[in-house]
Amino acid sequence: MARKCREYLSDLNDFLDGELSEELCKEIENHVGQCENCRIMIDTLKKTVSLCREGNSEKLPNSIENKLTDLLSKRWQEKFGK
Ligand SMILES: [Zn+2]
Repeated sequence: MARKCREYLSDLNDFLDGELSEELCKEIENHVGQCENCRIMIDTLKKTVSLCREGNSEKLPNSIENKLTDLLSKRWQEKFGK
């Protein structure tokens, strides 16, 4: 695997927004298919994003996006950061 889990994290928001290139999307989908932790992360992120979107806003406010990324980074580090 060319990239580490944490390197995918920075692309996840764009991935969920459908803003990544097809190639990158496939790479992430491939990785997520093989990596349970990333699958959980994406699930969590998707749920949060859809909750936010139900509250009317098309895009996540930057502050929420940053918080999420922070939170996910920390969780990820706890698991993989040693
Ligand atoms: Zn992973």
